[in-house]
Amino acid sequence: MVKIIKVKAKKAFTPTRIPGADYVLNQYIGCEHACKYCYAKFMSKWYGHAAWGSWVVVKENMPSLVKNETVKGSVYMSSVSDPYQPVEQELQITRNVLKNMDKNVKLSILTKSDLVMRDVNIFKEFKHIEVGLTINGFDSSVKREIEPFSPSNERRIKALKKLHEQGVKNYAFISPIIPGLVDVQALIEKTKSFTSSYWFEFLNLKAAGKEFKNWLSQNYPESYNLITDKHRFERFVKTVVDTINNSGVIVRGVCVHYPKMRFLK
Ligand code: SF4
Repeated sequence: MVKIIKVKAKKAFTPTRIPGADYVLNQYIGCEHACKYCYAKFMSKWYGHAAWGSWVVVKENMPSLVKNETVKGSVYMSSVSDPYQPVEQELQITRNVLKNMDKNVKLSILTKSDLVMRDVNIFKEFKHIEVGLTINGFDSSVKREIEPFSPSNERRIKALKKLHEQGVKNYAFISPIIPGLVDVQALIEKTKSFTSSYWFEFLNLKAAGKEFKNWLSQNYPESYNLITDKHRFERFVKTVVDTINNSGVIVRGVCVHYPKMRFLK
């Protein structure tokens, strides 16, 4: 049972250094999708150390805050939650935020859920909007372990296709790229006929945390050994980046976290 913590926020838009964005909007903090590698897990420290995925902070006044606030620059929704996690079905905070938001705001939404399709008619009112789905093609046993509560990869790919058919600009976020577990080329081939552009991100092992590190080293030692060997990992990154660059798709960015943070374009 997920614990819902209702709070009132002071402001809607927060400045950010996230590549490609000037502001973030987090109407939720915490995420029921409970991905084991989630980089936002550190937020649990501030909420009584309860397990990531077991609680969600809901900023219930966000729909009214965005009525009176607007920003110039690009806004990313969301950085410490998924705006279409299951609780959204009932609470509709994301939907009401979108309804009330200035439609001139340049908005980028990212989710792992096909619930996003519910709001297509609102997306169409925005002048500059793009809607992204995170895909990674983990096989079902891996997904059960590390992405237990999000919709399947197939459903996310279908959502990407439907967004395209509805005339909403879409993008795919291929993440986290883990050697041996994610086939970047296959994902591009499967989606490129209906996907406007792509972001890519290699796994950030450090931010994924100790528990994930242990899981990877025990269950996929070859992947773990490759990621933690600087030279082998550099060669792996180069091979994947070559694949990306030869694929003919529009690449918005490739994020590499190890051995130091790099943003390739
Ligand atoms: S869907 Fe995103 S925010 Fe939610 S747990 Fe997974 S990685 Fe974290």
